[in-house]
Amino acid sequence: MPIYEYQCDECGKRFESLVMGGKEPKACELCGSKSIYRLMSACAFQTRDKSGLVTKSSAGTSSCSGCTSSSCSNCS
Ligand SMILES: [Zn+2]
Repeated sequence: MPIYEYQCDECGKRFESLVMGGKEPKACELCGSKSIYRLMSACAFQTRDKSGLVTKSSAGTSSCSGCTSSSCSNCS
């Protein structure tokens, strides 16, 4: 499930919200303002593998899961 980061335009509060079923938060959780917008979270560019290590999804273009390029010995 995607977690998006939002920022309130009124008070500047940043908060993360787990978006389930496409239901995004309608208002700031701090001040209740509806002037919130979604940030491009850095998490969008990262994935976590089973051991919890953060890997850059930019490596997804590589055919190899063991390196961040396509030039290691594990690469096909
Ligand atoms: Zn607010």
